Amino acid sequence: LPADQTPVDSLREEYNSLAEEVRQHRFAYYNENAPTISDAEFDELFRRLEKIEALHPELIANDSPTQEVGGDASSAFAAVNHLQRMYSLEDVFSLAELDVWVSRAAASVESVSPGSTITWLTELKIDGLAVNLLYRNGELVRAATRGDGATGEDITHNVLTIKSIPRVLAGTGHPAEMEVRGEVFFPSAAFAQLNERMVAAGKAPFANPRNAAAGSLRQKDPALTAERPLDMYVHGIGVREGLAAQSQSETYGLLKEWGLPTSPYFKVLDDAPAVVEFIEHYGTHRHDLFHEIDGIVVKVDDFALQRALGHTSRVPRWSVAFKYPPEEVNTRLLDIRVNV
Ligand code: NAD
Repeated sequence: LPADQTPVDSLREEYNSLAEEVRQHRFAYYNENAPTISDAEFDELFRRLEKIEALHPELIANDSPTQEVGGDASSAFAAVNHLQRMYSLEDVFSLAELDVWVSRAAASVESVSPGSTITWLTELKIDGLAVNLLYRNGELVRAATRGDGATGEDITHNVLTIKSIPRVLAGTGHPAEMEVRGEVFFPSAAFAQLNERMVAAGKAPFANPRNAAAGSLRQKDPALTAERPLDMYVHGIGVREGLAAQSQSETYGLLKEWGLPTSPYFKVLDDAPAVVEFIEHYGTHRHDLFHEIDGIVVKVDDFALQRALGHTSRVPRWSVAFKYPPEEVNTRLLDIRVNV
C-alpha cells in the first residue's frame, strides 16, 4: 500500500471502481443495447460488489447499483412514471443458496404471520424485456419499459404491434385502473431465423434473444417493430384497484380470462422439494421451450404475505430468481463471433 493509504482507503477505491464498472456495463446493456461482457461475467461483478457491501456496510453508497433497479429511461422516448414501482429480482446461483433464501423467507413469514403456510408460485424466468401495460376500464392506454423502476420509456406504439397483447380486454369485471407487467421476448425459432437474415445481409447479428427483443421494441419507427414476431407473457401486476384476487396465481387466471397472454408453464407448489424438482426439470429441458429462459422465478403466491414481506429499494423480498449456469449464452456469443 502507498504510505498515505490505509486498508480501508484501498478497499473504498476498489469498491468505487467496481461500482463504476457495473454502472457502465448497465448503461451499455440497457441504454445502448450493446453489452460488452456476457451476463455471467456481469453477474460475477455484481456479486463481488454485493459481497464487499455485506462485509463492509459502511461503504454502501445511496447510488450503489445494488440499491437501484438497472436501466435509466433513454431520452429517445417520452418518460413515463409507473403508477406502482417495478422491481428487479434477487438472484441465487445454486440449490444451496436457494435453500438459504427459502428458509429466510419462511422465517420472515413466520414472524409477520405466525402459523401461515407458504405456497410457491414457480415460473420460468423468461430472457426478455420487462414491460408495463396500463389498462383503464379494460382499454390499453399506455405501455412502457421498466427503466429505473420508477420511470420508463413510452413504447405504446411499438407494443401495439405485438399480436398477443389485447388493446381491449375480453370479459367483464376489469379494475378501473390496472398495471400488468410481463416479459416481451423473441421466440427462439424466430430469433435463429432473424440472425441468419442479419448475417446474410452483412449486418451484425444480435447477441441473444433478449437483445433482439429490446432492440426490436425500442425502435423509433413502430413499423420496424411490427416486422419482428415479438411475443409476451405476463408475470406481475402493479396497480390493481378493485381486482378480486387474493394471490398471484388467481390473478393469472383472471388475466387469462381477459385475453392477456399468461405462461402455460407456471405451477403452484406446496414445498421446497417440489420447487427443486421444477428447477431440475427445466434445467434439462430449457432448450426445448418456445422461448429462452435464464432461470426459474419462485414467488410467495399469497398477496397478503407478499405485502407483509415487502421489498428493498431494488427487489421484492417475496421472490427470488434461480439462475442456471451460463453455458448456453457463452456458446451462443462465441458462435456469433465466428459467424461474423
Ligand atoms: P434480472 O433479469 O436478473 O431479473 C429481473 C427481471 O426478470 C424482471 O424485471 C423481469 O423483467 C424478468 N422476469 C422474467 N421472467 C420473470 C417472471 N416469470 N417473473 C418475474 N420476473 C421475470 O434482473 P435485471 O435487473 O433486469 O437484469 C439483470 C440481468 O441483466 C442479469 O441477467 C444480468 O446478467 C443482465 N445484465 C447484463 C449486463 C451485461 O453487460 N452483460 C449488464 C447489465 C445486466
